[in-house]
Amino acid sequence: MSEFIDCYIGLGSNLGSRASYIRRAIFEISHRITKITAKSFLYESAPWGSFEGETFPYLNAVVLLKTEKSAHEVLDLLQAVENDLGRTRSLPNAPRTIDLDLLFYGNEIIKTERLTVPHPHLSQRRFVLQPLCDISPFFIHPSLGLTAQELLESCQDSQQELPRV
Ligand code: ADP
Ligand code: MG
Repeated sequence: MSEFIDCYIGLGSNLGSRASYIRRAIFEISHRITKITAKSFLYESAPWGSFEGETFPYLNAVVLLKTEKSAHEVLDLLQAVENDLGRTRSLPNAPRTIDLDLLFYGNEIIKTERLTVPHPHLSQRRFVLQPLCDISPFFIHPSLGLTAQELLESCQDSQQELPRV
């Protein structure tokens, strides 16, 4: 019997028409994977990680969908959407039109060459936790055992509360 899994996807854009890339990515995800169950507000955040070139602030959001597809199928589809929206892969942390990360796949813990779920470091990132709390504050991180709200409250990110856009 097939089973629908709660799948949380983090979206980020810091190149070009950022809000439009986020909107288009959500549209493509809903067509290629399945309709979106819940969608966070949109936030602006400073870029994470070091990069030698010019960097720009991100727009971020999180969406929830319920899918019968496997985690690797979801990753394949997310990467296809990234490619179709002009994402190029150059240096780590380089500006990107769209970044789509699989944050959680139900309560599963996955570690393969291509996929780590829950997404690493999300507990340190306000740009993930704040939008996640819009839609699922009581979701429990499967390996840390804390809710999204608890993770946000104890988050040590140097960025304070992110502005809604
Ligand atoms: P980042 O999002 O960390 O800036 P990229 O978007 O360039 O980096 O992704 C780099 C690689 O991370 C991808 O090739 C993908 O296979 C891998 N990856 C591992 N786990 C995940 C995940 N949970 N969601 C998305 N990509 C992942
Ligand atoms: Mg990514």
